Amino acid sequence: MSMDKKLYTLKYTPDANSHLKPDLEKCKTCKAKICTIICPAQVYSCGEPVTVNFENCLECGACKIACPYIGWEYPRGIKGVMFKHG
Ligand code: SF4
Ligand code: SF4
Repeated sequence: MSMDKKLYTLKYTPDANSHLKPDLEKCKTCKAKICTIICPAQVYSCGEPVTVNFENCLECGACKIACPYIGWEYPRGIKGVMFKHG
């Protein structure tokens, strides 16, 4: 199954506020923009400022490891992504 089709099988309950908070001042001078490359769900978009479509986050944590300037926490309570098994 392609990545796009797998993403359609997920259920999201977005929180009202983003659980992903990049330091936009650091983003202004960031040349690598690794967040836009590493995220499997294309949450980050390269622009001025960088935009964050946090509603699509898979909570994999890759961006948190790749960039020290991203404030990252899980969505509150039962918000966020739900994975189906089986
Ligand atoms: S979030 Fe990190 S990698 Fe992405 S643009 Fe900002 S500083 Fe660069
Ligand atoms: S936690 Fe994973 S899916 Fe969510 S924004 Fe970071 S890299 Fe993308």
